[in-house]
Amino acid sequence: MTDEKVLTYIKKCLDAGRMSEAIETSEIAKVELSKEELKNYIQKYLENGWVSKAIEGSKAAGIELPKEALINYINKYLDEGRIYSANEASRIIGIPLPREKIIIIGRECFSKGKLNAGLEAYKLLKENPPVEELIICGSVCFKEGQYYSGLEAYKLANKNPPVEELVICGTKCFNLGQTTSGLEAYELASKTPTKETLRVCAEICLLEKRHEEGRKALVASQKIDDTNEEKPIGIKEISLKELRSSKEIEESWKGFGPEKCLDCENEEEFKERFFLLSRCPAVGKEEEWLDKTMKEKYRVEHFTVGIFGDNKGLVGSAVCARCGSRKVSFESGETRAYIELKR
Ligand SMILES: [Zn+2]
Repeated sequence: MTDEKVLTYIKKCLDAGRMSEAIETSEIAKVELSKEELKNYIQKYLENGWVSKAIEGSKAAGIELPKEALINYINKYLDEGRIYSANEASRIIGIPLPREKIIIIGRECFSKGKLNAGLEAYKLLKENPPVEELIICGSVCFKEGQYYSGLEAYKLANKNPPVEELVICGTKCFNLGQTTSGLEAYELASKTPTKETLRVCAEICLLEKRHEEGRKALVASQKIDDTNEEKPIGIKEISLKELRSSKEIEESWKGFGPEKCLDCENEEEFKERFFLLSRCPAVGKEEEWLDKTMKEKYRVEHFTVGIFGDNKGLVGSAVCARCGSRKVSFESGETRAYIELKR
């Protein structure tokens, strides 16, 4: 090994907290490691909360680590709510953690909606967290849109979550683009979200390219309109020329078109066909139906579905004019379009 490689290796060991390995390597390779440098690393381990690594390292380096320093760190960890590190340190040096302080920390965690940290604190005390603190925690979680933590907190408190909090949570989830938890919160509350909320949620998901969640929100919003629910999806072939002047679909479809032949990489010449969908297909059965109908009725096997801001869909299919391939990718133009190539 060259000196440079040895040094890199030693640095890697030190960064990972493997000080004795670093020291051994340096001795074999006759590379000097200063006490000062090792001391800094031990300090760093303690800052990171790596108590056992710091103690092991200090033994290997022959650097004394006074008990008082460790106790100071325990207090620091506790103040910062780093319960795991505090507990590890107290176990190693054999000093019990101050009960009062842990109770305060646990309570604080719950009041901030940090369910797991709060539970961790009470676990150390070998006590069940008080019901009222769990309820506070659940309530905060719901307000922040942390549906599952909120639910868990109420479950541990053995209480049913209040309907109004569930609705607040569901709405918050939708505003954060979390379709699944939002829908679950509303369902548990036996309430129906507004179409608008769902549309906003869908838009956020589509912008962030989380297509499944976006489509779920769109489909849910369609179902709210009872008249739409049972209606089958209408398919209508439309020429690009007609499409351009059509008022049947929101502007955002513009820019939707063939991008590249996946076989010969041609990006210019295509023969295209477009079909307007009266609404966006749901995942599963409706998708299968669309696949089958496109194939049997229109002889289109490869196509891309774009779902735009007004819930309408646009099917695009293209044949490469150069090589005749039907595997052509589409671009959506507008980022909020949902787009997927069917093969
Ligand atoms: Zn081609």
